[in-house]
Amino acid sequence: MSTKHVYYFGGKSADGDGKMKELLGGKGANLAEMCKIGIPVPPGFTITTEVCAAYYTAGKKIPAAAVPEIDAALKKVEAEFGKTFGDPTDPLLVSVRSGAALSMPGMMNTILNLGLSDASVEGLAKKTGNPRFAYDSYRRLIDMFGSTAMGCEHEKFEHELKSMKEAKGVKLDTELSADDLKALVLKYKAVYKAHVGHDFPQDPKQQLMLAIDAVFNSWNGNKAIEYRRIERITELKGTAVNVQAMVFGNMGKGSGTGVAFTRDPNTGENIFYGDYLIDAQGEDVVAGIRTPEPIAQLDSEMPRVYKQLMDIRQVLEKHYKEMQDIEFTVQDGVLYMLQTRTGKRTGTAAVRIAVEMAKEGLIDETTAVKRVPPDSLNHLLQPQLDPKSKVASVAKGIAASPGGASGKVILSAEAAVEFAKKHPNEPILLVRKETSPEDVAGMHLAKGILTSTGGKASHAAVVARGWGKPCVVGCEAVKIDEKAQTVTIGTYVIKAGDFLTINGTSGDVMIGKVETIEPTMTGDFNTLMTWADKARTLKIRTNADSPADAKKAREFGAEGIGLCRTEHMFFGDDRIAAVREMILAESEAGRKKALAKIEPFQKNDFVGIFTAMNGYPVTIRLLDPPLHEFLPQKDNRAGAEAVAKQIGVSVEKIFERVEELHEMNPMMGFRGCRLSLVFPEIGDMQVRAIIEAAIEVKKKGVTVLPEIMIPLVGVVEELTFLKKRAIAVIEEAFQKHGATVEYQIGTMIELPRACVAADKIAEEAEFFSFGTNDLTQMTFGFSRDDIKGFMPTYLEEKILPIDPFQTIDFAGVGELMKMGLKKGRDSRKAKHGTHLKVGICGEHGGDPDSVVFCHQIGMDYVSCSPFRVPIARLAAAQAALGEGGKRDK
Ligand code: ADP
Ligand code: MG
Ligand code: MG
Repeated sequence: MSTKHVYYFGGKSADGDGKMKELLGGKGANLAEMCKIGIPVPPGFTITTEVCAAYYTAGKKIPAAAVPEIDAALKKVEAEFGKTFGDPTDPLLVSVRSGAALSMPGMMNTILNLGLSDASVEGLAKKTGNPRFAYDSYRRLIDMFGSTAMGCEHEKFEHELKSMKEAKGVKLDTELSADDLKALVLKYKAVYKAHVGHDFPQDPKQQLMLAIDAVFNSWNGNKAIEYRRIERITELKGTAVNVQAMVFGNMGKGSGTGVAFTRDPNTGENIFYGDYLIDAQGEDVVAGIRTPEPIAQLDSEMPRVYKQLMDIRQVLEKHYKEMQDIEFTVQDGVLYMLQTRTGKRTGTAAVRIAVEMAKEGLIDETTAVKRVPPDSLNHLLQPQLDPKSKVASVAKGIAASPGGASGKVILSAEAAVEFAKKHPNEPILLVRKETSPEDVAGMHLAKGILTSTGGKASHAAVVARGWGKPCVVGCEAVKIDEKAQTVTIGTYVIKAGDFLTINGTSGDVMIGKVETIEPTMTGDFNTLMTWADKARTLKIRTNADSPADAKKAREFGAEGIGLCRTEHMFFGDDRIAAVREMILAESEAGRKKALAKIEPFQKNDFVGIFTAMNGYPVTIRLLDPPLHEFLPQKDNRAGAEAVAKQIGVSVEKIFERVEELHEMNPMMGFRGCRLSLVFPEIGDMQVRAIIEAAIEVKKKGVTVLPEIMIPLVGVVEELTFLKKRAIAVIEEAFQKHGATVEYQIGTMIELPRACVAADKIAEEAEFFSFGTNDLTQMTFGFSRDDIKGFMPTYLEEKILPIDPFQTIDFAGVGELMKMGLKKGRDSRKAKHGTHLKVGICGEHGGDPDSVVFCHQIGMDYVSCSPFRVPIARLAAAQAALGEGGKRDK
């Protein structure tokens, strides 16, 4: 720990600077930086994150060495600001603000107006000639201090405020008089005393130290822990504490407070974007209590301040070369900046801002590519509401995060969590008056969020944008009755559980479900992808089982198919009967008869896919799942009866076969290459369909590169046997058609044994494709469908840093992959003098961190679902540029 615990900032100088985020937190570092570049900031000081860590080590005690430094820094603030802390006639008031190295919006507590007491509130009233303001500030302090530092319920104070407003017959806080507020202070103090057991502390220094404690404590509050869990933040030391001279936005009509972004965080457009409120303080804009005014309007209300803000906007962007999210307060016409940080943005905005900043010359193309988080592209790949849809909008709110979402109305975050447990696949639309940090778990589960109050910078808007979730806020027409579990919009009454739709791009709200359309890749998105492709060395393929998917993936830039699952083709309505007939057949002849019916369908599918992938390789996996998956199960008598009728056997016969095929552990059962080893005619049919389709499209001028992939190989002899058989079928097809095509035969590496024996397997295999879903299951001995019971505990207790089905487990599964890749490549080279092509086709292929890993170990390609292809392209580019994959797994 460094010997300096406290860093002063004020005037045009500061002890720290913008680079010291780890030590000073983001807020503290940027306050220092702003001072240094001459932006007006109220003076203050930052207590470091190391002090927070020491606070916890010492059993929640502020280290003694820090205290004199706090006193000294406070003296400097007093000198700079020309007021004294605790002065009963003209007190310096301060805010106590949290701020970790990474921004955690709304997760930690801030206390404003600290330093007021029964004596100094009178002084403040006299000095400012504004008793209304003085008592308002005091009652806010008691509320914030009570609820944040002492654990009183904020609602208790709110209740007093509401009663007072009712008693006075007014609607707005601002309509209460000085005397009303003075009376309210007494009520607040009573609430405080009833809860805490003693009077509100009158000694400002005591207030300050308790407030510092409170900020440190909020670091381990539930909200903060939950946020860090969702955002996977693990490496931080703690929060810093910023103590800063108060400036007041609530001193009347000449004052105000606001938040803004230097560009639109929704669309990325280069406009000043934000909200402000006149005669308001601190959190008022963010809390969604009053609906604020759009920033452009400030131009007419306070033209001089507006112009100054526009200048600061330029200065900040030029300095940080990034879009900034700022907080400001105007006290009697004087502007102060209270915060700046890199602004959170939607994926759409991230792309546009990166591309436009590069075009403006603020950053270069490489920086633009590095700057967009691959996962945020999800936002551009979200379905949009069909513009041709006839469903009319019934209300309009503020478009806070783009994209369309249809879901079942749920009225609280807790209810959303409950609902998702019972109906994991049903879409949720969370409808709230406003959201708060307690709601994040439920918000995370929702497809979209709708609030009736709040502005562009409200909690709901900020959080939804961060996650790329469609969100509409401040939709005042929406009336929520949680008791009755209804939402009323004009004359419409929507019950909880009914469908409602929001358009986060336009702010519209529609009753019922609205169809969505698939996104396309154009404009800035396309530009960024072109830049990414220049940097990338890893190839990106897609997992696709149909010509339509293959086409979509090509549009998104896929350079081949890494996994085509033939069993998906078996399920088609027109062929499932033949598949079942094949399974129920008692002899090879019977099976062959049924397979002959399936073959033309398979061939046609391949013709479509090869055509869509003209010139690009297509890896086709032979049948993989256990056969029982194709039959109706025991509990489905109606299904069995239908099948019985369709293929002319008895229900008993079907159930008999189901019984025979029953397995204790199908994941490790009669599946993969084992199927074709026992029933070679299945593999023969598939290989023939592939090759005949290839011959057919080649004749039409399509460049076709089929790769036949044999699944679940553990010992090379399996591959030797099946490959020999496949080559025989292929040769026969060549003979029959008097034509040939290029092809490869390879295998999926999805068993630990295959990794270990990869040298042997590579003597036969022309390519490897890591099937990391099964490889993860088999390596851990977890069945993916059965992890629900323990995975949450594993993650919570940090037994595992992350779900290994989401991101490759580098230390275990990843090591096996490295071994398999190296042994395979070396052996292929030694034996055949050729390069063994290696890829990955598990779902990890679309996970950015896993893509980085695949790049690092030297794979040739990753394959992922069509909609993740752009994400993988960007992740691969960042990997090549040495970015990403830093997360410790
Ligand atoms: P958060 O991290 O939740 O944004 P902040 O520390 O930024 O919390 O503070 C909450 C609110 O209080 C903000 O709106 C901020 O502008 C306001 N605020 C904080 N310190 C001061 C101050 N010294 N003077 C006036 N307003 C302040
Ligand atoms: Mg806060
Ligand atoms: Mg803030």
